[in-house]
Amino acid sequence: MPRDLVLVVVPPNSNTVITGRLLTVTRPEEHSDWSDFLCLGALSLVSSLATNPALEPVYIDGTITPLDDILECITAHADRILAVCLGMLTANYEAGVLIARHAKDTDARITTVAGNDHFSSLPTVCMNASPSLDYGFVGNEVVGPFTDLIGALRAEAPIDPPAFPGLVYRADGLVHTTPTRAEPVFSGYDYTLVDRVFPQTPLYTRQFGHRIAPRIHELLGRTVTAGMPVDIGRGCVKFAADDACSFCSIHPGQLWRNQLTPAQAWAAIEAAWNAGYDYHYLTADELPLTFAQLLTGMAADTPAWWSALSENERPLLVGYGRADGIADPRKTALLTSLGVRQIMIGMDAGAATSLAAMNKPVGGRRRNVLAEAEKLYELNSQAITVARDHGMLIRAGFVVGHIGMTRALLTENLERILALITEGGKHGVFSAIDAEVLSPQPGARDYTYLTTPDAARQAAAKLGLTVADDATLAAVSARWAHQDVVMPEDAMRDYTLALMPEITFDDLAQARATIRSHAKACGVVIGE
Ligand code: SF4
Repeated sequence: MPRDLVLVVVPPNSNTVITGRLLTVTRPEEHSDWSDFLCLGALSLVSSLATNPALEPVYIDGTITPLDDILECITAHADRILAVCLGMLTANYEAGVLIARHAKDTDARITTVAGNDHFSSLPTVCMNASPSLDYGFVGNEVVGPFTDLIGALRAEAPIDPPAFPGLVYRADGLVHTTPTRAEPVFSGYDYTLVDRVFPQTPLYTRQFGHRIAPRIHELLGRTVTAGMPVDIGRGCVKFAADDACSFCSIHPGQLWRNQLTPAQAWAAIEAAWNAGYDYHYLTADELPLTFAQLLTGMAADTPAWWSALSENERPLLVGYGRADGIADPRKTALLTSLGVRQIMIGMDAGAATSLAAMNKPVGGRRRNVLAEAEKLYELNSQAITVARDHGMLIRAGFVVGHIGMTRALLTENLERILALITEGGKHGVFSAIDAEVLSPQPGARDYTYLTTPDAARQAAAKLGLTVADDATLAAVSARWAHQDVVMPEDAMRDYTLALMPEITFDDLAQARATIRSHAKACGVVIGE
């Protein structure tokens, strides 16, 4: 029997399936969009593999399909499985390794392939710690090389690593990585592949109908029935100057901005619309400042099918944006003209020092970060007014904690964040909020602070802030420096201990609870 099955698996969050993991502030269902949409990254790989008739790719989302069912599927079809491929984020890496180990234990001839942000940040550490991972890919420009690798495995051709950009492999007892190469944004999605083995679309649709549709109806009077992520471009204006926010763990790849043409972007929206999706979640990391040119091109050349629909019949679009983009009425008007009616903004903090510590302001490394941060706080507030004037909803995200946060800063942040929520709630602009304790993830500056005491001291000193004593910094960095499994809550607690010595993890958890209950009191939904 030919080995033609390729399982592309989104593992479940580790702390939901592995006992003994802390789960006090990281319950996945408390976060926005949990299980409301399919995973577009996994679908891109499955859709690309499907162009090879010798393969039968299978999409499996462990956030909605029980882990036991996934393991049973591997056991039952082991003699037909060519590869088990795992999209590893920090929150699901350990569960991903568990699935890889099960595959190899069941049949050692199954090839396992890892990828996504966590693996991309720590490829050597992960490969050294997990012999059950055969290969991996770093970065997000991997659809082409991944498809080629699986094709070569299917053809039983020798694997020549330099032929696969981004490939992580072992040779001579060491882990190596082939340099990455830019590739176009993928757009050949086949939505029917989602349900090939497990009927997952009905589960997404049920979640969507339960969590998102009623809120959209309540706030906008629009009826939406099913949601789909749509990728028209990726990147962020901050990546252009290699100046990401401190907690951002996105891998920009070779291009700080990679996008479709306006016509291709409309085609991507049309494909999702024709497949029955009326709520489109634009996955671009930041829309108004980063993709203004693409959006302007789209507005200048709207397709006939879209123009023929009334405003209320068109797909409802949502996406990400920075507050300084939404505070510009022209940019917000451009977004609403394209049907974008909700924008997710990471407002993140209230105090200027905190926004500076998170490196939120744009403008490159040379700007006066404190002055820009104070402006950014004002722009958070202005964005609420502009959004209200343009009928745009905001889903606001707040992060509690940052390097050097003091008790006074925590208090100031709480006051200002509660004021923003009061304002957003009063005007009916905030459709929801997310409030999270800072989670240092590999790939982000905050993780570098956790593992590199000198970097932490320097970053804190720049803003006149302090971190813990040398012994504490050394002990914490030693714990995490070569760690493949980064349990989110353990890392949060150690970050607090080492980098916010004036406050405790419980202070942060309490602040998160205060923000959440204030939002509820203002009639603002949390995490949906
Ligand atoms: S604005 Fe968003 S996407 Fe851009 S660097 Fe900051 S967190 Fe990352």
